[in-house]
Amino acid sequence: MRLPCSVGAGLEPAPTSDMTFRTPWQTATVERVVAETYRAKTFTLRLSDPRTFRAGQHYDVRLTAPDGYQAQRSYSVASPPSDGNCIDLTVELIPDGEVSPYFHEVVQPGDLLEVRGPIGGPFTWGPELGGPLLLLAGGSGIVPIRSILAHREAVAPDLPALLLYSARAPEDIIYRKWLDDGAEACPTVAVRYALTRRQPEDWTGYARRVDADMLRDCTEGLARLSETDAAPLCYACGPTGFVEAAADVLLAVGIPEGVIRTERFGPTA
Ligand SMILES: Cc1cc2nc3c(=O)[nH]c(=O)nc-3n(C[C@H](O)[C@H](O)[C@H](O)COP(=O)(O)OP(=O)(O)OC[C@H]3O[C@@H](n4cnc5c(N)ncnc54)[C@H](O)[C@@H]3O)c2cc1C
Repeated sequence: MRLPCSVGAGLEPAPTSDMTFRTPWQTATVERVVAETYRAKTFTLRLSDPRTFRAGQHYDVRLTAPDGYQAQRSYSVASPPSDGNCIDLTVELIPDGEVSPYFHEVVQPGDLLEVRGPIGGPFTWGPELGGPLLLLAGGSGIVPIRSILAHREAVAPDLPALLLYSARAPEDIIYRKWLDDGAEACPTVAVRYALTRRQPEDWTGYARRVDADMLRDCTEGLARLSETDAAPLCYACGPTGFVEAAADVLLAVGIPEGVIRTERFGPTA
């Protein structure tokens, strides 16, 4: 279904006992649209009611059709908390989806969207939590992790961090240049990719789904970066199947449950 209109003037959120849903809706203006990959675009939104947020949090977006039909989805903030009155949302296209095709095919600079947030507690990072950080991303699960990495760069640039990013093929890697440039520029950051379906001929990264050997390798790499064997603070985000597998493997390699934070985006990709 296509939703030709995006702002529902005067619409109130459905009543619920969850405090999250008392966050008021507001309008945001689309300032910029950038293609990250062939199926991921970043939308910079200028908020009418800017709010401070923590790296890792998300916003809800609500679309309203002229007949009143509404569709609502969550999108993580890709930008760091220091980015003023704007937030970046990166939306990956799910071809048979309802909301992500609307973003990809319809939303343009100057459009108004209805959003509410920031939302989310456990899957957030701030410098008071320290590190080192072991960040695991599957597909568009890289979005909140980008915010965490950018925030770390701004407020704790010496904190060691290792990102393991699982994608299907090289062209599916979102923010690749930003990630590679960040790792190149900072000796305490490492980025590793796992390509699960197709790898280039000269590929030297991982070529399989996340498993115990891979995570042992990553935790050892992070221990070398941080010169400590202390358990890292772990964040895993992506499709449900990826996150569940990553959490199981983290536990299997001896990471304590209490330092693992997860965010599930939806069905197994
Ligand atoms: C806290 C949170 C943060 C999120 N942040 C992001 C983000 O930063 N970027 C982003 O692109 N998405 C993010 N998502 C997922 C997003 O909310 C939507 O689920 C996604 O955009 C699909 O919506 P849709 O309306 O296009 O598809 P739907 O109409 O909801 O679904 C269409 C079909 O695709 C399947 N599907 C739905 N979601 C996914 C998925 N994530 N992966 C694979 N298949 C799926 C459905 O089972 C269905 O078969 C987040 C989800 C949560 C819960």
